[in-house]
Amino acid sequence: MKRILVFVLSCLLVTSCTKDDDSEKDLAKELSEQQKEFVKEYKHVVVDDLNLKWKKEIKLFLDGTITTDYEDMVKNTLATFNNFFSDGMKITLVNTLAESNVHLYNGPKSEIANLWPDIYNAIGDSDVGYGSSSWFSNSAEGEKLIDSGRVWVNQNTGMPLFSHELGHVLGLGHSSQKYCGSSIMCSVPAQEFSSFDIAMMKILYHPQIKSGATFEEIESIVTKLLLSNEISF
Ligand SMILES: [Zn+2]
Repeated sequence: MKRILVFVLSCLLVTSCTKDDDSEKDLAKELSEQQKEFVKEYKHVVVDDLNLKWKKEIKLFLDGTITTDYEDMVKNTLATFNNFFSDGMKITLVNTLAESNVHLYNGPKSEIANLWPDIYNAIGDSDVGYGSSSWFSNSAEGEKLIDSGRVWVNQNTGMPLFSHELGHVLGLGHSSQKYCGSSIMCSVPAQEFSSFDIAMMKILYHPQIKSGATFEEIESIVTKLLLSNEISF
């Protein structure tokens, strides 16, 4: 009797799994060619870069050569970033290093030799900026979450570089060569966010996207967000 029950149960499970897979494949077929291209690029930029995200407010401290103009530009750029998040995520400026979880240093490369020797050694002569983040494993919820970051920007660089490095801190990798020229996440950042850049951040910081999830785990969520036009470009 027990054996039969187990057999029937496993059949039901297999059947329902198969059905789900089929309907999700059918759903993906409804995407436009541009949406399919986007999903491919999302996988490259975000998921292949671990698909990690923050789950608490970023508190950014500006250090080094910070003029009033630079701080004003950063405030405007952060307001733009904050529009991309719908899961409660927010980036704010704080006045001290002690309050911060992201430390930005604006200055010549020589000035970070003592501050961050690891970053100093990692950057090449032609580099003008660097963004890094670290994560921890939240055992209670089983999620890996980003919880701190460091950014170096060379002096006299503007908001495209700032946005690029902040993009790394938020969990984005580099765009593929195909989108260089239009994406802020190209290794030579574009001047403005592309519609793909914006949609990527809107998806990563959507409440339905779990940090550290695999592509298979999020593919149907991304497909549905695109098909419903909740995320469009
Ligand atoms: Zn980069």
